[in-house]
Amino acid sequence: EPVQQNPLVSMHKDAADFYHQILMTTRIGERGLSYAKERELDEDLLKHFDIGYAPGNGDVLYTFLKEKGYSEEQLIESGLFVQSQDGRLFDRFRDRLMFPMKDETGHPVAFSGRRISNNDKEPKYLNSPETSIFTKSKLLFHFSEAKKVARKEGHLILFEGHMDVVSAYKAGIKSGIASMGTSLTQDQVYMIRRITNNVVINYDGDAPGVSAAERAVGLFKQAGNFNLGIVVLPEKLDPDEYVKKYGPERYQQEIKGAISPTDFYLLRLKQKYNLNNEREKMAYLNDAMTEIASLASPVEQDIYLQRLGKESGVSTDALKASLSRARRRQR
Ligand code: ATP
Ligand code: MN
Ligand code: MN
Ligand code: MN
Repeated sequence: EPVQQNPLVSMHKDAADFYHQILMTTRIGERGLSYAKERELDEDLLKHFDIGYAPGNGDVLYTFLKEKGYSEEQLIESGLFVQSQDGRLFDRFRDRLMFPMKDETGHPVAFSGRRISNNDKEPKYLNSPETSIFTKSKLLFHFSEAKKVARKEGHLILFEGHMDVVSAYKAGIKSGIASMGTSLTQDQVYMIRRITNNVVINYDGDAPGVSAAERAVGLFKQAGNFNLGIVVLPEKLDPDEYVKKYGPERYQQEIKGAISPTDFYLLRLKQKYNLNNEREKMAYLNDAMTEIASLASPVEQDIYLQRLGKESGVSTDALKASLSRARRRQR
C-alpha cells in the first residue's frame, strides 16, 4: 500500500515546482530571472535551492492547483492564498522571488518571497503564515541539506537570512542554515544539537546582527554542550554583501577566523567603554575579569588574562590578584 502523503505537503511540492518552472523556463519569469542575475544567483544555485518566481497577477497558482484537483478547503488551509471579502482566493505571493522552506525531511512546507520591485510599501520579505504543516519556531532554512554536509564536515553555520545561506553556499560554505529573521528559538537550538555541537554564528555585521548574535550565544549556552565560533564581518556587511565585495576566498578566511564566545563578549564589552577615561577603563577591566573568572578552565583563564594585560598595560600579577578576588565573589 503506498504511503498516503499529507495533501498540504504535496501541494507545496507542486507549488514549488510550479514557481521554479516559471522562473527557469517562461517569458513571465524573465523578470524574476533578471533579479536573480542581479543578486548573482546562477543556475546551479537556483536549482539547488529550488528558487522560483511568483508572477504579479493574482491567480496563476490558484488556477494551477485547482486544476491539479486540490479542494477549496485545502487551498485555504495551505496559507498560500488570501481571501477577498466575497470569499474568493488570490495568490498570497506576487512578483516575488520564491524560496521554499523545507522541513527536516526536505519537503517544502512554506515559502519566503523576496520583493522584486522597489516599492517600499510592500514588505521586503513575505513568509507563509503558520499552518498545520509549518511551525515557524521549529524550522531552519536549508536544514535538511545542511545536516548531510554537517555530518561530513562536523559543523553547521548559522545565518540571519536565506540570501546569506545561498551566497555562502556559492562561496563553498555548504552547511549553512538560517532562522529567517525570527530570532533563534530554543527548539531550533535543540534541532541543531541533534546534528552537531560545533556551530559558527555568522549574523550580519550591523548593530542588530551583532545583538542577535549575542542573544543566540546565550541560547546555545543555556542549552549547553556547544563549541561556538562567532564571525563579526567588517563594515556592517552581511555575508551576502561580503562575498559580493571580497570574494569567496576571503570569506572562507573570515569563517576560519571565527572567535570564541569569550573573545566576542570581551570585544562587545570594550565597545561599551571609553578606554581613554581611567574610571571607565577600571570598570571595563572589572567586567572583563568577572567574565574571565567564570571560565571553567584555568588554562583558558590564563590565556585571556595575558591578553588583557597586554592590551591594558596592567601587569598580569595585578590581574591575577583581582581574578582570584572575582572568583571568590562568584562563589
Ligand atoms: P536581502 O539581502 O535580500 O536584502 P537580508 O537577508 O539581508 O535580505 P535582512 O534585512 O538582513 O535581509 O533581514 C534578515 C532576515 O530577516 C531576512 O532574510 C528575512 O528572513 C527576515 N526579514 C527581513 N525583512 C523582513 C520583512 N519585512 N518581513 C519578514 N521577514 C523579514
Ligand atoms: Mn540584517
Ligand atoms: Mn542582511
Ligand atoms: Mn542581504
